[in-house]
Amino acid sequence: MRPTTSLTSWLATIIFLLLSSINLTVAPAPPGPYKYWFNATCLAKDKRFQDYFDEMTFRAGSVSKKLKDPTDTDFHRVFHIIFKTKVDDEDNFFEMTEEADAWAGHDTVPMTGKDMVTEAMDALSVTWQYTSAREEANLRVYCDDLYVGAGSRYRPTISGQKLYDTVNDFYFELGEDAGGQHDCEAEDPSLAITGEVVNGRRQNSNVDWFVVMDLCQEMWINLMKVDERYGLRAPRSVKEMDQDRGGNGHLHGMAVVHAARQWPLLTLFHEWLHVPPFLGEDYPEPLTGETSGWEHVMGLTAKEAFHSPEAYTFLALWAALADLPAMEGRGGYTISRDWDNIDDEYKWTNSPGLRHGGHLQNEGYEGYAMAYRDLTGTRNLRDEQTREGEKISRSEDDL
Ligand SMILES: [Zn+2]
Repeated sequence: MRPTTSLTSWLATIIFLLLSSINLTVAPAPPGPYKYWFNATCLAKDKRFQDYFDEMTFRAGSVSKKLKDPTDTDFHRVFHIIFKTKVDDEDNFFEMTEEADAWAGHDTVPMTGKDMVTEAMDALSVTWQYTSAREEANLRVYCDDLYVGAGSRYRPTISGQKLYDTVNDFYFELGEDAGGQHDCEAEDPSLAITGEVVNGRRQNSNVDWFVVMDLCQEMWINLMKVDERYGLRAPRSVKEMDQDRGGNGHLHGMAVVHAARQWPLLTLFHEWLHVPPFLGEDYPEPLTGETSGWEHVMGLTAKEAFHSPEAYTFLALWAALADLPAMEGRGGYTISRDWDNIDDEYKWTNSPGLRHGGHLQNEGYEGYAMAYRDLTGTRNLRDEQTREGEKISRSEDDL
C-alpha cells in the first residue's frame, strides 16, 4: 500500500482513533493467552494428568479442522445431529451466552452455527498455556474431592451457606452440594458471588481473573469399573479404548455413551467450556437435573446446544473416534449413516428434540458409532504430525 499524507486521511485516522477509544470504555475482556495450573492432587489421581490437556487442545483443533473441511460429510452429519443445524446453514444465527457477552464487554455479533463452534474450538486449542505458578493461573484445577476436613483448602463460614477457599481467597456458595463431595464444576469466583464480572486482584493472586475448577469423584469412578457390555477398562484416551478392544473395528456398533463413560477427558472438556471466554451454560433436565450424557444432548434445542458444554464435548469425542483407523488401518468411526434414511422434513432444523416431545428411533439419533472403510475427510489427516503417540499417517492407497 502506498503511503499517503492527505488531510482527509489524517482526519479519517483521528476519527477512527476517537471511535476506537470510545469502544474501549466498555471494558474489553483481558487478552489471552490464558494460563492453567493444576494441583498435585490431580497428579495423584493420574500421573499422566498433563496428557489430558494436550489431548483436549488436540481434539478441539481436530473438531475445527473437520468442520472447515468441505469433504468431511461424515463429521458434518455428527454436527447436524448434535446441533440440529446443518454445517452449511447460512440462514440461522446464534449468539453467545449473556455471561460470555458480559465477560467480553460487548454483545456478540450473531454467528452461524459453524462459526460459533469453530471459534470456540480454535480458542480452546490455542489460547491456553500451562504455568507452574498458581498465582499466575486463570484456571486452577483441583482433584481434592472433599469440601471440608483435613487437608481441604475450604473453611466453613459461620452461616454455613458458603465455604471460604483459603488458598484462592474467595467464597464458594454451597447450595445443594452442602456437606457432600464435590460436583465437577468450574467456579468463577467473580461470577459466582456477584453475578457479574469483577476484575480485581485477590490475595495470593497475580491475575485479574481466575476460575477454580473442582474435578470430582465422578470423573474417576467409571474408570475403576469394567464396562461389562463392551469389556472396556480405564483407558485415558480414545486410542487406548480402541486398543483395549483389540482395534480393527471392534468399537463398531458401540453406543457413544459407553465410549464417553470411559473417557475422563469428557469431564475436563465439559468443565473447561464453562470457563471464559466461552462461559457455556447448562440446561438441566427438568426432572433429573441431568446436564450430561448423549440423551441429554439429543434433547437440547439448537440454541441450547450451541451454549451447552456437553454438546461440544460429544462433538470432540466423535472427532476422536473419527481419527481412529477402524478397519485394518483404514477408514474410521463415525455416527451411523442410518440418519440419512430419515425424511428431511423430520430431521432437526432448529426444531425441538426428545425433551420437547420428539420420538426419533434411529441409529444416528441413538448415537451408534460405526466403522466405515470410506470415512470422509480422512485424507486431510494424511502425514499430519499430531501429538506424541497419536501419529496418524495414512496414504492414498489406504483409502
Ligand atoms: Zn456443566
